[in-house]
Amino acid sequence: MTRFNALMLLTFAAALAACATVPYTNRHQFNVISAAEEDKLGLQAWQEILSKAKLSEDAQASALVERVGRRIADASAQPGYDWQFKLIDEPGTVNAFCLPGGRVAVYSGILPVTENEAGLAVVMAHEVAHALAHHGAERMSQGGLVRLGGAALQAGMAGKDPAAQKQVLNAFGLGTSVGVLLPFSRSHEAEADRIGLILMAKAGYDPRAAAPFWRRMKAGGGAKPPELLSTHPSDEKRIKRIEAALPEALKHYRPQ
Ligand SMILES: [Zn+2]
Repeated sequence: MTRFNALMLLTFAAALAACATVPYTNRHQFNVISAAEEDKLGLQAWQEILSKAKLSEDAQASALVERVGRRIADASAQPGYDWQFKLIDEPGTVNAFCLPGGRVAVYSGILPVTENEAGLAVVMAHEVAHALAHHGAERMSQGGLVRLGGAALQAGMAGKDPAAQKQVLNAFGLGTSVGVLLPFSRSHEAEADRIGLILMAKAGYDPRAAAPFWRRMKAGGGAKPPELLSTHPSDEKRIKRIEAALPEALKHYRPQ
């Protein structure tokens, strides 16, 4: 083998190693962060957020978040994930997120918009889908964040390098203060919607609840749009895409 060929082969192998496949959609993504590394960063970000957050004392609502989350987690068939479901007491924040490794937080402000268990499943399945699809790691890979190196990222998450910490949190869709979330790209949003529909259906929630939920979000916008709208623009296009993805999701639906 010539040196050139050997180099080509190495380059090809490296590219292959960096290419992952997203579950359910089979999209190829560029991802140079290992699942273990992503999980570690996700846990550190989770601890950082929880240390500043006020957990809800509403036992009934917290149990609802736990129950819906557990059903979606079971449907995802990812027993290796560190599934956790927390309800954060922030009535003014209409949002939710899921960090890599399966740590899910729902802000109490979104509960009135979800209206019922299926509505909550729409939100939580969508957030879980971001984690299953490794959108955080993909963003870190695209953003060249990996140049920071594992040690710098770890130092950042431990609060020793605020700039690195901010970059990791942002890649995971989080701002540096509680309740401030950042948008994923339109294509990541569309993918999370599609996977979320399938997950909620597998968990026994009717995926036909998704479009009405996003209509309620849109209608509730008013003068001051809820945060979820700024991170998850709810327009007719999104609702149409969700309706188009329904037949695929309904194939997985087993009412409970
Ligand atoms: Zn999203």
